[in-house]
Amino acid sequence: MSSIDRSQSVGGTRTYEVRTYGCQMNVHDSERLAGLLEDAGYVRAPEGADAADVVVFNTCAVRENADNKLYGNLGHLAPKKAARPGMQIAVGGCLAQKDRDTIVKKAPWVDVVFGTHNIGKLPVLLERARVQEEAQVEIAESLEAFPSTLPTRRESAYAAWVSISVGCNNTCTFCIVPALRGKEKDRRPGDILAEIEALVAEGVSEITLLGQNVNAYGSDIGDREAFSKLLRACGKIEGLERVRFTSPHPRDFTDDVIAAMAETPNVMPQLHMPLQSGSDTVLKAMRRSYRQERYLGIIEKVRAAIPHAAISTDIIVGFPGETDEDFEQTLHVVREARFAQAFTFQYSKRPGTPAAEMDGQIPKKVVQERYERLVALQEEISWEENKKQVGRTLELMVAEGEGRKDDSTHRLSGRAPDNRLVHFTKPDQEVRPGDVVTVEITYAAPHHLLAEGPVLDVRRTRAGDAWEKRNAEKAGTPAQPAGVLLGLPKIGVPEPLPVAASGCGCD
Ligand code: SF4
Repeated sequence: MSSIDRSQSVGGTRTYEVRTYGCQMNVHDSERLAGLLEDAGYVRAPEGADAADVVVFNTCAVRENADNKLYGNLGHLAPKKAARPGMQIAVGGCLAQKDRDTIVKKAPWVDVVFGTHNIGKLPVLLERARVQEEAQVEIAESLEAFPSTLPTRRESAYAAWVSISVGCNNTCTFCIVPALRGKEKDRRPGDILAEIEALVAEGVSEITLLGQNVNAYGSDIGDREAFSKLLRACGKIEGLERVRFTSPHPRDFTDDVIAAMAETPNVMPQLHMPLQSGSDTVLKAMRRSYRQERYLGIIEKVRAAIPHAAISTDIIVGFPGETDEDFEQTLHVVREARFAQAFTFQYSKRPGTPAAEMDGQIPKKVVQERYERLVALQEEISWEENKKQVGRTLELMVAEGEGRKDDSTHRLSGRAPDNRLVHFTKPDQEVRPGDVVTVEITYAAPHHLLAEGPVLDVRRTRAGDAWEKRNAEKAGTPAQPAGVLLGLPKIGVPEPLPVAASGCGCD
């Protein structure tokens, strides 16, 4: 280790930084990458530090200019690395899984390239690259270890992602995920529930079940109702206040799931269900295997069973071949569905996807015009739906870092059960992120609510205690240095996937 330049190290320990791009899957994987590095003795680089000793890019491959963004960032780091020989750069995630050794050909100052199936290998590959002074490119074709078996450093003390499956069995023509994350693999229900119980024991009170296609959960373990059973099982975990999940696929959204949502008190009245398009012709071209009628039918059933449910969605505008009539169908579904929120995207070609080769690519000007019409319509609906919240009394889980203006407005922020963001008047009594407050909604804006009156009740929770404990630790304890041995998998490398194991944040 003597040759390493320790200029950025903290207390003699090498620092790391993980830069995350893309979907919740990547956000969750980045918590594992941070956990792996801390397990191997690295410490997180202080906020705002120049460049850490190890910079890890966890990349996304969904957007057209994802490549340009990565190589641009790598270009920025080149002179910094040239000035600090001990610095290392690693690239992982979907773009690494796709581009492999092309990355070190285009950016030879990169030390490690790893894929979506072997994130557990990062510490060993960094050590190997350091000792052999040679770039290490290691891409696995299938999952080596379920990410949830790896050490983790969670971003939040009171809310957590819990991965229930990886990969996807669908073949949507605009999507590269199946090619990069493989076929769906489900975790055993017992492993998932054990992880949730362990999290609740640490003080976590809100979990989000994560899968590319969260409600297809069970297809790999031969139980079509496994997802609704999992939701109901979460309802029996003492101390678990809030359960959310993302993302479901309309094709697999069955009545047993709606019933489980409606009948399990800690499953929140919130649903994010990607529509992508309202036109049956376009849905067929996207290979989304449901049509407008089924989609609106699910919305109707959810609203009948859970009247206050907030429903959000993803919509792509300008898919190849989309006509004005097709687009009108999308607007029609948006008017009918009354989404609380919609993540709207202009179609962009993704090399390697069938849609990229399709005829009828839409001119940018037309896509932009349609996009603006959709955003304007959805903005109106979001606001109208938010206005219906005025006068309601809601329990909020106090959130950390969700109110940009909180300090100047003497407010705090929290999330309602339906995940709406609420800014509320700071009470005299101390409240911490993770605690629960009861407020009355007094004003609605398009993308947030206000509770300008006094807080009606404050409930201090174990989640708030966990947040306070973590903050005290952050303020106090120095880091513990430790070494990594070259290629001896037992140290710092996770056990292989349990034998018996036997979710699409598409954008
Ligand atoms: S869009 Fe979602 S459901 Fe479709 S292939 Fe991609 S990850 Fe799977």
